[in-house]
Amino acid sequence: MAAVVLREHGGPEVLRHEMLPLPVPGPGQVRIAIRAVALNHLDLWVRRGGPAFHLEYPHRLGSDIVGVVDAIGPGVTGISVGQKAVVQPGLSCGRCAACLSGHDNLCRHYRILGENAQGGYAQHLVIPEANLAPYPERLDFPSAAASILPFLTAWQMVVHKAQVAPGDVVLVQAAGSGVGVAAIQICKLFGARVITTSRSADKLARAKALGADEGIDTSKEDLVAACRALTGKRGVDAVIEHLGGAAFTACLKAVRSGGKIVTCGATTGHSPELDLRHVFFRQLQILGSTMGSKADLLAVLSHLAAGRLNPVVHSVLPLSQAVEAHRLLEAGEVFGKVVLTP
Ligand SMILES: [Zn+2]
Repeated sequence: MAAVVLREHGGPEVLRHEMLPLPVPGPGQVRIAIRAVALNHLDLWVRRGGPAFHLEYPHRLGSDIVGVVDAIGPGVTGISVGQKAVVQPGLSCGRCAACLSGHDNLCRHYRILGENAQGGYAQHLVIPEANLAPYPERLDFPSAAASILPFLTAWQMVVHKAQVAPGDVVLVQAAGSGVGVAAIQICKLFGARVITTSRSADKLARAKALGADEGIDTSKEDLVAACRALTGKRGVDAVIEHLGGAAFTACLKAVRSGGKIVTCGATTGHSPELDLRHVFFRQLQILGSTMGSKADLLAVLSHLAAGRLNPVVHSVLPLSQAVEAHRLLEAGEVFGKVVLTP
């Protein structure tokens, strides 16, 4: 099968085209013929390398995978060849207390396809049958692939961590990002008022079309002053944060006393300045979040199937243009997801 692989870390140029043997599903596994795989910032981090990544070369990136079941291993029942499927991106042991209590993304053995397990930059992938999720028939393959990680991540942040309720004011950072696009819509689903940010007036306009109530152009406006002005000096109830760096530091002042900052990423810096006096005097809650449970993805997919949540695709490129796709995402000029089709 055709694949794009890593044999070393580095810039986009380390992505190599290779032919690999067609994988064969073992007991309890199925093989997917991949129709679309969406990019995430995770792909860029893994490609660049870091101490958290333990790759088996040749490594295939790609966590957001959709396709068609094209082979079934021994002992798999209730699944047929030709069935469309969304791939659950998390692998876990299925036996520990975290897994059995529905928190599989807290499993000690949790891995993400494309990160510490082989991913979807290829024509096929073998996965456990437990990782098949129902396909939202309303969506084409690129749109379905664009729905997985961002909506799953945003769901846990908004619903379980921030526990957003009707009337809450939520600041969603970076309107055009995958998590931003998803969090704006999930916050609206739960009745919140959404303030979002971007350095582009065009992205703010597009965010309002998705449901955002207000936009702050951070190329011109001060985030803290704007949040205070929009909330009668009170501050926002919660922040959906994934930028890190100076943007995270600003959130400590943009949130109200007792408010929540939920962080799932640090695209602009992982060691922000943190004045603990803001945290304890004003009783802030800083909540870490990674991915979501398998049950969360099923909830997200039901809303996507019903049209209550809508993915945004920026562009679709063939897998052979993976290098260009990485450059596009790294340039930060996208609104929504970049998707590859094998
Ligand atoms: Zn487990």
